[in-house]
Amino acid sequence: MKLARFTHSGKTSIGKVVGDTIIDLSSVPGVGSSMSQLIGDLPHLRPALEAATEPALPLGAVHLETPVNDPQKFLAIGMNYRKHAEEARAAGIPIPTSQFWFNKQVSCLNGPYDPVEKPDVSEKVDYEIELGVVIGKRCRHVNREEARGVIAGYLIVNDVSARDWQHRSPTFTLGKSFDTHGPVGPWLTTDDEIADPLQLEMRLTVNGEERQRSSTADMIYDIYDQIAYLSTVMTLMPGDILATGTPAGVGAAMNIFLKPGDVMHLSIDGLGHIENRVVSTSEIAAAF
Ligand code: MN
Repeated sequence: MKLARFTHSGKTSIGKVVGDTIIDLSSVPGVGSSMSQLIGDLPHLRPALEAATEPALPLGAVHLETPVNDPQKFLAIGMNYRKHAEEARAAGIPIPTSQFWFNKQVSCLNGPYDPVEKPDVSEKVDYEIELGVVIGKRCRHVNREEARGVIAGYLIVNDVSARDWQHRSPTFTLGKSFDTHGPVGPWLTTDDEIADPLQLEMRLTVNGEERQRSSTADMIYDIYDQIAYLSTVMTLMPGDILATGTPAGVGAAMNIFLKPGDVMHLSIDGLGHIENRVVSTSEIAAAF
């Protein structure tokens, strides 16, 4: 299933995408407004969600929202693709000797087609395409072999980064957490629809020019190692989003940064695409 959140006629609902339509699931008993809750309840809700066929709307007639609006955590791993670790090292960032995790604050989550702010206070805003893993079960101490069993599904993440803020604190938190700097989507593709999450091609373009192209096969620590490592430390919850690393080709490696008007297009095999236009602080302010 492809689970989405969408707005139509001023109302935001949970739905499932089937071809070029979206089926509103809000009348299915047990479906509320929280995607994290729905994900946690998916084992018993799934038959009713799969059976729903109406009401259906054309996908083009709705606005897709952040598919998971209320995760408890939005964690991201740095320097987890071999070539990207090399380009980061060339820029003076040492290659970590263990998994390198940081937080993106959940308040930076953004819709799959919504604008991304180039804040007036940053001149080094950058993109990062990543496979997003969404946790499906409350879990702790998950070993590598069990890890796939705690995954609800996948989505595309753009780990937008303000490079000039990223190193102001050793946790990266501020430079990774500007409002709008966490576009995800376009929907949550459930795990059963993906044959092998370790073999997914990914591509990112800016204004149609290819900047990143790789495969999840190039990760240093794959998603199962990541879940095992994180769950050594903390309880993972349904809806938690893990951004699992970006491949080479970030703007920082070329000293080219995003400017208002740029359009980022991100796609991953089997997950669809997301697209975000960069806008200035004053444009964002005018939209509120
Ligand atoms: Mn990243």
